[in-house]
Amino acid sequence: MKLWGAIVAVIFVLLGSLFWWGVLDASAPARADGVIDLASYRALVTSDAPETLPTDVRIEFVGESEAPAFAAEAGAFGPQRTFAYASFQVVAPDGGLIIDGAVDAATLTEMADGAGRFDQAAYDRVLAAMETTPRVMITHEHLDHVMAIARHPRPEAIAPHLALTSPQLASLPQHAPDGVLAPAIADAAPLDLSEPRRIAPGIVAAAMPGHSLGTILIFVRASTREYLFIGDIAWVMSSIENLRGRPRLVGLVVPGVDPDRPAVLRQLRALHDLAAANPELVIVPAHDKPYLTGLIGEGALNQGFAAPAPAPAP
Ligand SMILES: [Zn+2]
Ligand SMILES: [Zn+2]
Repeated sequence: MKLWGAIVAVIFVLLGSLFWWGVLDASAPARADGVIDLASYRALVTSDAPETLPTDVRIEFVGESEAPAFAAEAGAFGPQRTFAYASFQVVAPDGGLIIDGAVDAATLTEMADGAGRFDQAAYDRVLAAMETTPRVMITHEHLDHVMAIARHPRPEAIAPHLALTSPQLASLPQHAPDGVLAPAIADAAPLDLSEPRRIAPGIVAAAMPGHSLGTILIFVRASTREYLFIGDIAWVMSSIENLRGRPRLVGLVVPGVDPDRPAVLRQLRALHDLAAANPELVIVPAHDKPYLTGLIGEGALNQGFAAPAPAPAP
């Protein structure tokens, strides 16, 4: 009987260790110096004239679904979290920038097992804005950020506006209709982010691989405040506040999520420290619906894309 007792104890210890490894262990390191160099991003746009800077940041909520809290932030076992699938519009005198292409209806149905909520009118506004906005970027190449690009009904109308890195472009065909990317988009010149780079007045992009190979940060110095679009480095802001990333289980179940998990955990530490040192900086995660709604409430974001400026008279 003693032997059986020992075996049962060992099994419990092994199961406990597995649970800790797969579900609970996701602590950010104590330090991540230099991982996100905000000063260098600011330096790239510090001499941009105030009248050229972005004036507004807007959001379209294209869809939403629920996700278990512990999947978004290891060790959080509270109520389900609401994930938004959104696109952002940086309004600027030169026409600005669209960030992320959200999901289309079919993708959301697949991802949320039919339980998602989709706003076709919002998606249509995102599609239209991409045709009239001079720059279209994505925070990364995952399926819930690219559909208005990979499946755009008029690819040749948006192709000249795309500013996507090589890893981002390389992943688009798998999301295109029948797996074939429109030639106009496939031929788009890649954006080189081997160094942080000024994209337009007040706008800087920097490669930040970890959550995916093509994850980037987009820093926006608008006329009234600064923004940092972080894509999916954190799915929920509490992940940054509590210094807890996604559990390993998520990366095992959802292929392609956090291929460099230690890098993501370092980035969470860096974002945590950045937020503490720059309380006015508006950190924008892609999916945290309650937090994004809060940003709208405090005036940091405005809901609904602005209509494009009328074309100049001939
Ligand atoms: Zn992602
Ligand atoms: Zn995402």
